[in-house]
Amino acid sequence: MAMLRIRPGSKVRLARCDPGDTSAFGGSKARAIVATRRQVDRLDRLQEMLYACRSSSLLIVLQGLDTAGKDGTIRRVFEGVDPQGVRVASFQVPTPVEKAHDFLWRVHPHAPAKGEIVIFNRSHYEDVLVARVDKLVPKRVWRARFRAINEFERMLTREGTTVVKFFLHISESEQRRRLAARLADPTKHWKFSLGDAEEQPRYPLYTRAIEDVLTTTSTEWAPWYLVPADKKWFRDWAVSKVLVDSLESLRLEWPPLPKGFRSIRFAP
Ligand code: AMP
Ligand code: MG
Repeated sequence: MAMLRIRPGSKVRLARCDPGDTSAFGGSKARAIVATRRQVDRLDRLQEMLYACRSSSLLIVLQGLDTAGKDGTIRRVFEGVDPQGVRVASFQVPTPVEKAHDFLWRVHPHAPAKGEIVIFNRSHYEDVLVARVDKLVPKRVWRARFRAINEFERMLTREGTTVVKFFLHISESEQRRRLAARLADPTKHWKFSLGDAEEQPRYPLYTRAIEDVLTTTSTEWAPWYLVPADKKWFRDWAVSKVLVDSLESLRLEWPPLPKGFRSIRFAP
């Protein structure tokens, strides 16, 4: 998945990343669905091993514009994983108390403990995205946050957390189509907010902000994966593949029976 991984220091141009590109898979939708199924099963096993070992943890950061598919990705990629094995932390508009603190204050308590997998559905990156585009804080404030973010994530990795970040990239036309579909579907109305309608025309402003995020915060220790997400089957395949590879690279082993237990026998 090196193709989707953003090399630290490389300058990102979203215009050069086609949101409909599925070439990293290189096969049909039907084959991708089969491969995803296998990866999802593997993820369940790897999660159990991670929990058994309690030596490290996994933090997954999911970012993407409205309708990019953050919720759908969580649902699909983790559908085979033991519900006791993962936790999702969703970050919405900060409360007055959260707003009165530094931007990492509300985030840090949700970082995974050893053995845990935590998914951030939105994250501290909102504080350099929506906060910048909607001018919620002055430029000097959001600019200084990039460094704080890199240092924060570095500290987490040094303490035993693997940090993997996904930016789900959809095209402006696909975003409009999904928002229109949401309006037309009574079962999706609850997902629709006036904010979504206000933010949509800001797609070009977000592009610049996202490019800066990906350029300055994809690091050796906490890389970003830029996932073309117009095709849901590709998105799910890519995210599950990166997660399986990341967990495999930890080379986890099942903990052995402790010494004193080896002589224990149970009568038939
Ligand atoms: P949703 O993900 O659809 O539940 O929407 C959550 C909303 O909260 C989005 O419009 C985000 O932009 C907004 N949000 C999340 N974090 C922040 C933040 N730190 N500052 C301002 N708005 C935020
Ligand atoms: Mg929303």
